[in-house]
Amino acid sequence: THFGFTNVPESEKESRVGAVFSSVAASYDTMNDLMSLGIHRLWKDHFVRSLNPGSSIPARDPSAQKGWNILDIAGGTGDIAFRMLDHATNINHDLDTRVTISDINASMLAEGRKRSVQTPYYNTQRLSFLEANAESIPSIPSDSIDLYTVVFGIRNFTDKQAALNEAFRVLKPGGVFACMEFSKVDNPLFDAVYKRWNFSAIPLIGQIVAGDRDSYQYLVESIERFPSQEEFRGMIQKAGFMIPGQGYENLTGGIAAIHKGIKP
Ligand code: SAM
Repeated sequence: THFGFTNVPESEKESRVGAVFSSVAASYDTMNDLMSLGIHRLWKDHFVRSLNPGSSIPARDPSAQKGWNILDIAGGTGDIAFRMLDHATNINHDLDTRVTISDINASMLAEGRKRSVQTPYYNTQRLSFLEANAESIPSIPSDSIDLYTVVFGIRNFTDKQAALNEAFRVLKPGGVFACMEFSKVDNPLFDAVYKRWNFSAIPLIGQIVAGDRDSYQYLVESIERFPSQEEFRGMIQKAGFMIPGQGYENLTGGIAAIHKGIKP
């Protein structure tokens, strides 16, 4: 088979994933824009708006620390973290909300740190970085996080259920788990067009723009392998979360979906 990663054993998968993200770190934005025709920016804006970070938490003890304590897992280049801090600051006039960007990959974190220099959060209490595997983050205390986000990250994790269990552990009761990930397209006709795009255009764009066909081939395969909306909702439930409403929202016909869970 020409699908390079299909026969990779789980034990080797983590280092391969590491190599993929080290290799894509620099061309990351260009590639995202090309692959998604720019739509990933709209999805990310929508994701952050739907979470409304920095808005007041009604049931909270007035003596508690102000603002939200947010953990952005697989936060890589800081795309989601900076958006959340901007939203808290500009929309909710909240200067206390803080984000920890956590990622397993030092190159991605270094790129995030470099980009943070251009933001007002550089070198402030509001932004910190943590190199860690999402499946086990012992340096984050239990019941300490208001909002846990993971955007286009979890499909790369070796043990997704372990990561969900860890998300449950670190969240405070009432805390929110929010995940945006590639998902399953519901319309068969649109799905056919989408699959053609994924399997032919994306590796080609990867080859031409990033000089790296295999990494992008891997990304396409990881999208294929990721569970359906309903299956993934089941895994979130299994970790102990309460599921609000339907539990997920499809974006662009299911190309991506936002899943949410609340720790009881
Ligand atoms: N959230 C960012 C965004 O949407 O732009 C980055 C997403 S990027 C596609 C996926 C990230 O997941 C990479 O930075 C990669 O290093 C990270 N990652 C992969 N496996 C991980 C793991 N087990 N724990 C934490 N991060 C991981």
